[in-house]
Amino acid sequence: MRNPARQTRENRTITIDFQHEATYFQLLGDGKAFLECILAFVLSLGFQLKHKATCGGGGCLTRHSHYVRVRLGGMTIWRLQCTTCKVVFTILPHCILRYRQMRPDVARKALLATHGGLSLALCAVIGAISPMALYRLICALGHQSLVAMLTRCGLPLPVYFLSDEKHSHCLREKVYLPTLVQGRVNWHLGYTEEASAATFTQSYQEFQHAAIDQEPTYRVRGILIDGFDSTAKSMRTLFPGARLGNCLRHAINKLPGKLTAIASPVRKALRSQFHTLWYRARQRQGLRVFALGQRLHHFADRVTHTAGTANGARVRRWFQEKKAGWYAVLADPQMPATSTLLDQAHNAIDRKLFMMKGCHHPGGSQQALLTGLAHLYNLVPYQRRAQHAGQCGVEVEGGKVPTHDWLLNLQILTSGGFR
Ligand SMILES: [Zn+2]
Repeated sequence: MRNPARQTRENRTITIDFQHEATYFQLLGDGKAFLECILAFVLSLGFQLKHKATCGGGGCLTRHSHYVRVRLGGMTIWRLQCTTCKVVFTILPHCILRYRQMRPDVARKALLATHGGLSLALCAVIGAISPMALYRLICALGHQSLVAMLTRCGLPLPVYFLSDEKHSHCLREKVYLPTLVQGRVNWHLGYTEEASAATFTQSYQEFQHAAIDQEPTYRVRGILIDGFDSTAKSMRTLFPGARLGNCLRHAINKLPGKLTAIASPVRKALRSQFHTLWYRARQRQGLRVFALGQRLHHFADRVTHTAGTANGARVRRWFQEKKAGWYAVLADPQMPATSTLLDQAHNAIDRKLFMMKGCHHPGGSQQALLTGLAHLYNLVPYQRRAQHAGQCGVEVEGGKVPTHDWLLNLQILTSGGFR
């Protein structure tokens, strides 16, 4: 099960919201009204249909052919053809999932439970479906790229982002999930079996290619990393002009570990003084970088004074190693300062990872499953007691989703017929 996500052929399926199933059946008998309804819906989304590169899309669409889906109770599916470039679009009504027998209301419950962290096996019980059917549904969603989905929602490509890899297990193998996050939105969730700079670069490059595809002049200004060597190397390779910062919260959390053989109250006091140092450093715009150098110097002196020369020397060495990354954070006010949002994303994904092992099979793709899970992460609204209750990550970051219904949004945004 080491297959990459693959795209077998050009997918020009679009999902159309007919509001009610009855409306759809009624329109099937009236070609003109059917076409008008589709064009109005696509217009309301503000998306462009994916014609051939040479076609401006100015031609007419005509009803091309239809087929009957036997397993869906004989439901008729229409195809539309562009009279200029001859491409054919398959029109799926909202009440059908692409290639699936599963009803959307069953998928809705099972996907929501999956997103909530329930195992595939238990999620499947909710809708009396097989775990493999649910697994395949998530993989199918994962065949559309995160970048395509997010830019369709009007989000600009991230100029600053957080980058880190989740270290995890898949069966008995160690695996790594290279991740890019901007605010509440996941822009890349990869899968590698090695922690080398080369494999991380390969994974992050998929994001870079997709981004440059959307916007050839795409440039990254700042990246916050955890200080892991392979991450830093891969980021420098892919985004040579970007500022690389180190997370400030990690700095505070790591300090106590650098102080050995001292009484706990002394360690705690130093940690709280270190916290104050960062708080003040971040408040002073302009002077921030200069002041930080002096403050770190004084702080190392204080450690020597209260915790001995060995601790003082260790802390000083650590500062030397990390301070370039801390300066990078303070030098640009737009740089993210802590990686909290990325840790949250990783925790959300990690709860679902153990599900993968039950679905190992020769034709499967971890990458597609993970991308599918990332789509859920971006599009499922937060629960009603959360800070951003009722909104999904895309909306919190200022993006616009097509409808008020998250599953319909997922169907529309992961369909392949839009440019
Ligand atoms: Zn065309």
